[in-house]
Amino acid sequence: MTRPAAFTEPAKKHLGQHFLHERGIISKIVQAVDPQPGDRLVEIGPGQGAITFPLLDRHGELTVIEFDRDLIFPLTEAARAHGTLEVIHRDVLAVDFTALSHNGGPIRLVGNLPYNLSTPILFHALDHAPAIRDMHFMLQKEVVDRMAAGPGSKVYGRLSVMLQAYCHVTPLFNVPPGAFRPPPKVDSAVVRMVPRDPATIGVRDHAKFAEVVRDAFGQRRKTLRNALSQQCDAAAIEAAGVRPDARAEQIEVADFVRLANSL
Ligand code: SAM
Repeated sequence: MTRPAAFTEPAKKHLGQHFLHERGIISKIVQAVDPQPGDRLVEIGPGQGAITFPLLDRHGELTVIEFDRDLIFPLTEAARAHGTLEVIHRDVLAVDFTALSHNGGPIRLVGNLPYNLSTPILFHALDHAPAIRDMHFMLQKEVVDRMAAGPGSKVYGRLSVMLQAYCHVTPLFNVPPGAFRPPPKVDSAVVRMVPRDPATIGVRDHAKFAEVVRDAFGQRRKTLRNALSQQCDAAAIEAAGVRPDARAEQIEVADFVRLANSL
């Protein structure tokens, strides 16, 4: 993809900058998002506009959140030829997604995320889940594998349970390092997340749920009875319909929800 001449800065490693250039991948992302009239699209980390401009061409308007001040001016200039771009120059972790949804309804998040921040960004999005209709993110493939894993998998853990309790998680496709400049050291993947209807989530106390999941996996080789000994005894675990001698990696998401609700 030819870049507007104004993008002269080299990629910044500390900001996780790996710019997508593979046209086929870019159009698969746009197709996956499939913007519809009236959608409120918000892109995290537009960089040099690889996804931004095709989304703008398709949808006409877009809000982007970018931290790198050197990218703001060239991005704004180049966007004029494509549509209406609103630029929020801020750390995404300081952006209130709920406030963004106030004019126009739930937002649709898109982003080839900075990989050093991917887990904090996922948890930040979870905090605002009711304001988000869906998310399409490019992440390290290893992270997407963990997000989508189920009980019994070696990579099933805290991230899998926390995300799946609040969202439907669907891995879409893998992306090789060569699709980016500079290429990252790892394979990547695009994932779709759709927040569950709040009425069906079932978690009563979010802080308690997060604590139970954290402690259970904090000592993943221990039985639940031992890993959760600070919070409850074996009888309480059993009363929730969960085996106290099972390990966290064997427990379904719904069982974690029931257990946390019962404590
Ligand atoms: N979307 C572009 C693409 O696909 O070519 C760039 C993706 S690059 C992997 C990640 C982008 O996130 C960069 O533009 C980087 O400057 C931006 N970024 C890094 N940390 C950020 C933060 N805390 N808040 C907002 N944007 C950030």
